[in-house]
Amino acid sequence: MIARSTLVFKGFPLSNNESISSTKQAVYIIGDGCAALSLAARADELPQHQMTIVHPDGAPESKDHIWGFWWIDGLDKAVKLARKKWHFWSITTLKGNVILSSEFHPYYALQRTKWERNCRQLAKNNGVSFVGQSKLIDAPQAQVLDSRPPVVPINQMFQYFIGWEIEASPGSFDAKKAILMDFRCDQSRGIHFIYILPFSSSNALVESTMFSQNRAPDTFFETAIESYLDQHCEICDFTVIRVEKGGIPLGRLPVSKCVNKGIGGNGEAIRPSSGYAFAFIQKQILATIQQAKSKKKSENTSCPLVITRPHKLVDLWMDEVFITVLKKRPEAAPELFLKMAKALNGDEFALFLSGDAGWWLRLKVVLAMPKIIFMKALVFLLTRKF
Ligand SMILES: Cc1cc2nc3c(=O)[nH]c(=O)nc-3n(C[C@H](O)[C@H](O)[C@H](O)COP(=O)(O)OP(=O)(O)OC[C@H]3O[C@@H](n4cnc5c(N)ncnc54)[C@H](O)[C@@H]3O)c2cc1C
Repeated sequence: MIARSTLVFKGFPLSNNESISSTKQAVYIIGDGCAALSLAARADELPQHQMTIVHPDGAPESKDHIWGFWWIDGLDKAVKLARKKWHFWSITTLKGNVILSSEFHPYYALQRTKWERNCRQLAKNNGVSFVGQSKLIDAPQAQVLDSRPPVVPINQMFQYFIGWEIEASPGSFDAKKAILMDFRCDQSRGIHFIYILPFSSSNALVESTMFSQNRAPDTFFETAIESYLDQHCEICDFTVIRVEKGGIPLGRLPVSKCVNKGIGGNGEAIRPSSGYAFAFIQKQILATIQQAKSKKKSENTSCPLVITRPHKLVDLWMDEVFITVLKKRPEAAPELFLKMAKALNGDEFALFLSGDAGWWLRLKVVLAMPKIIFMKALVFLLTRKF
């Protein structure tokens, strides 16, 4: 398991002689990343709660990166701050290429620093306090939410990636189309694809991404980016202006045994089959606010916030089968993603990956998949034999 500090947050800070109104529920959020700030920015919608963001000891320096997501209901604020949108995106393998398009659900890129700066300002305007961990004192009546990263078992599959934002000569990229997955790269270490977000014809984020249980060395990702740019974009001369790298757990994580309720990635918001989390975090927060509002109306009292998983059980179950197939048959991954892209139109693809699929759409995805390996994965999950 990943090491995690054994902090027990029992209470809340009283800073600057502030006292918290006895009619309000005090809520302390450990961590000041996406989920914490996205919730704090909406504090005006939670008038019965007094929120405080706690910057945890040992927190790594926050690094900028891009959040990609498809537009769905509830993401209007994120869309307004987005850097670029694409109505076209592609999935390519050695055997084929699918270009999907969507008028209603384009794919957006949002800069982390821009979103978080905006949320932080809104939170401050809405009376949210920001404190360090040392300011905490005992106050058992306070609710504590933990947004630090989830504890991950050793054999968990991850999405590992390194991305370079590069500047090349004009005309190097097709700025109208995002490349979601291009599997025409080194598959020798497992499932591997290139992801490209072209911000203009000369400027793009080019990412080498792996789905795997072991992280390949940085040179593997870097060589893959260079080779791809050379072989498929005819770009040899470029400047790296920004680097982003990370690892996002894939597959379902064990439910946290921590005393404090998790939120964001630590509150099951990461989509197990894709690693997408931004849109799901916003869904989780919306559900929390809606629940608090309905409670307030019926009971007229303040009470702890309710944090729920933003995924439907059927989607989690489908994801579990899919991840089992990827683990057992990694060589089949390019074919599976291509088949899915061929079976759906752009809107359906966006809705499915955003967790907004209906039964007909789920059935379309199931019917597009090769039956035998999925049946074997299902049997494995039921009997633990593949
Ligand atoms: C580089 C990168 C790119 C991503 N791209 C996308 C994308 O395109 N689309 C998408 O939907 N999702 C993406 N994700 C996944 C997901 O959206 C993000 O991880 C998101 O930030 C999760 O929000 P969170 O609030 O749960 O965690 P975070 O935003 O990571 O916040 C965690 C908090 O815990 C603190 N913390 C972290 N480690 C420690 C520690 N060891 N000790 C103490 N405190 C700690 C941090 O300082 C922070 O305050 C990406 C993730 C990364 C890392």
